[in-house]
Amino acid sequence: MSFRIALIKGDGIGPEVVDSARAVLDKTAKVFGRTFDYEEALAGGCAIDAVGEPLPSESVRICKSCDAVLLGAVGGTKWDNLPVNIRPEKAILGLRSELGLFANLRPALLHKALAPFSPLRGDIADKGIDLMFVRELTGGIYFGERGVTRGAGGKAAFDTEMYSEAEIERIGRKAFELAMGRRKDVVSIDKANVLESSRLWRETMRRIAAEYPSVKYSEMLVDNAAMQLVINPSRFDVVVTSNLFGDILSDEAAAVTGSIGLIPSASVGEGSFGLYEPIHGSAPDIAGSGKANPTAAILSAAMMLRCSMSLCEEADRIEEAVEKALMSGARTSDMVCADSEKALSTKGMTEAVLSFI
Ligand code: NAD
Repeated sequence: MSFRIALIKGDGIGPEVVDSARAVLDKTAKVFGRTFDYEEALAGGCAIDAVGEPLPSESVRICKSCDAVLLGAVGGTKWDNLPVNIRPEKAILGLRSELGLFANLRPALLHKALAPFSPLRGDIADKGIDLMFVRELTGGIYFGERGVTRGAGGKAAFDTEMYSEAEIERIGRKAFELAMGRRKDVVSIDKANVLESSRLWRETMRRIAAEYPSVKYSEMLVDNAAMQLVINPSRFDVVVTSNLFGDILSDEAAAVTGSIGLIPSASVGEGSFGLYEPIHGSAPDIAGSGKANPTAAILSAAMMLRCSMSLCEEADRIEEAVEKALMSGARTSDMVCADSEKALSTKGMTEAVLSFI
């Protein structure tokens, strides 16, 4: 069976880490007798340079014609002074809306070999972290009514948090479906003691929870969740929350697991189509130096195989290969913490993973 993958390499270290992920996909395809066909699409700063806009319609067409999209990163100082509507980051927002991607999945996994990188106390890190953030991606305060007015106190600005039942239901179902394939535990995070939108969020989540009696469901206020992620992260399995709270808390969860170069993500909608990308940016400070850690992009490819192509064995093989490479001491410079540890280049780290596929 063959699958079509749109590759958006993007800017900075994007092309370097996407090339690594592709090498791992090719080896996996060979081992398991699969065929992956790739089609490259432009987005971000390189698209602005080539055709004058961050997300050309041809790129959207290519993405829609494929089973999934694998993206590196977009952006860089070169394009920082452009007007907001033609900045590279517009490409990401455009892709999410054009492709109907309303849920962002962000796993946070503390690899045993990397426990020393966690800023957590040893006894907390030793219990392990294996959680999945399900963040609503296309609604809430980032998309609500906003404005600037002038009153007695001078200028005033406002942003609006608004969610419909339909938006909450679809993100809730995503979370419960995911939990069914994991440890069957969903925590919904809100601020229902203050916000009306959170009270509707809670009421709707409870209704969805009743459809999944085998999944343990609980609720947590966002301020408590911010604390629990640091003092007791092992208690979380699937965490579902709004766009704003998810943006902040998923970065906190990433930080407690160690390097930014290790964490993959997926943006998905209805059906199996999805966009997969490392959580890091284009890292212009190390672009072209061979220092980029390709692990997050490689793990994004594994997520893609599992979530968009149902190739679970192949995804497991890639994730195990990463774990084995890390256990064997393979490190890029962002992960080196002792003088005795030697840093591998992007290529070296990729080869270490390939050797365990
Ligand atoms: P960044 O994630 O690019 O870099 C932050 C720091 O982490 C840098 O020191 C960088 O060298 C390091 N780093 C990041 N990824 C790494 C990796 N794989 N291996 C080793 N080290 C790594 O964040 P930033 O500096 O705030 O942003 C740089 C550019 O990326 C900006 O233009 C920003 O808008 C863009 N950005 C894009 C995305 C995306 O494409 N989805 C996400 C975040 C930021």
